[in-house]
Amino acid sequence: MKNNDLKTKLVERFFRYAAIESQSEAGGTAVPSTQGQIELAKLLKADLLELGLTHIKLTEQGILTAILPANLPKGFTGKIPPIGFLAHLDTVDVSISPIIKPHIVKQYNGGDVLLNKEQDIWMRVAEHKELLNYIGQDIIVSDGTSVLGADNKAAIAAIMVALERFKMNDCLYHGDIVVAFLPDEEIGGSGSKAMDLRDFPVQFAYTIDSCEIGEVVFETFNAGSVVINIKGITAHPMSAKGVLVNPALVVNDIMNHLDKKDTPEHTDGKEGYFWVTRITSNPNTATVNINIRDFDKKLYEARKNYIADLMKLVSARNPRAQISYEITDTYGNIADSITDDNKQCIEFMYKAMENLEIVPKTISMRGGTDGSTLSARGIPTPNFFTGAHNFHSNCEFLPMNSFEKSCCMILEISKLVYEGSR
Ligand SMILES: [Zn+2]
Repeated sequence: MKNNDLKTKLVERFFRYAAIESQSEAGGTAVPSTQGQIELAKLLKADLLELGLTHIKLTEQGILTAILPANLPKGFTGKIPPIGFLAHLDTVDVSISPIIKPHIVKQYNGGDVLLNKEQDIWMRVAEHKELLNYIGQDIIVSDGTSVLGADNKAAIAAIMVALERFKMNDCLYHGDIVVAFLPDEEIGGSGSKAMDLRDFPVQFAYTIDSCEIGEVVFETFNAGSVVINIKGITAHPMSAKGVLVNPALVVNDIMNHLDKKDTPEHTDGKEGYFWVTRITSNPNTATVNINIRDFDKKLYEARKNYIADLMKLVSARNPRAQISYEITDTYGNIADSITDDNKQCIEFMYKAMENLEIVPKTISMRGGTDGSTLSARGIPTPNFFTGAHNFHSNCEFLPMNSFEKSCCMILEISKLVYEGSR
């Protein structure tokens, strides 16, 4: 297969997968949150069968896993670690259309891009200077009424095309490669939480869920959430003196003990924060939801302790209110799962980029990926680029050369893992 064929195959698969509506539902609690993700998983399952993978399993939750068995030269005696590649099935729900109609801008000329002629929707260079890096290249765009869904169907297509290339070329040696396609990454990553790890028997894995070419992420937040429930005492105002306990004012007391500068809007880089995401209150009860984020595990634990101490303090200041709270860990920093024994999973990414002449762009991600969840569950899972720009926007676009390099990363990492075990 020549590289032009690779591009053709990537486009063909991307368009086929994009045509299936698989938006997750913001706030949805079922797994998967939408039936479209199951439809996409079924199609992929059939594709995996056709590609000759084994151990193909699609669960009721829409978690699809499969193994491409090792292909090794005769007489090979080395031991190759099984590795994994993951992508998510859902596209994000940002209150625009779930129906995705991509098209290709051939040899982009450096001007504004007309996404939709009928509705006069444009992607303007003035707002998207990153376009200028791709003059002369083919670029895949949406029709302006939806996201493009390169997040994460570019990754699905890249994995599938890499598998196809392995199948068609006996000389490409590799160890066992395990793939997983997971639902609902965009609404909290319930797929990576629910996946039975016996179906994903790898030493380390990669998500392909970053943006522009070169992006690499192996540092993410430690993340948790707090729910605080307050029960007050209601009374008619005419006889309220010394009786009424207003839960809204207890909430106010809590808020006064949170630093107003320790929030997402006042922090960046490696700084953590508390984010009060929701307050509900009536005369009887109130609930507060807070997200806790920090890159540093110790500081993250200190934040949890701060909440615990704050609850004691506020309970003492409001003795007649009943205050309870629960803290849940959501995901962990990938970097905390990297040890001397497994750091090669990071080294393979950088070596692959060097071989492919890609300039790495290492990012500390102020968020999490399915890999953050899997890393916390014991499988180190860094993340590399899809090649696309502007995730979660109708101006999401995917330059073809970057898309191809993302696919080549899968091939190259697999090759390096094999060569490193000879
Ligand atoms: Zn994504």
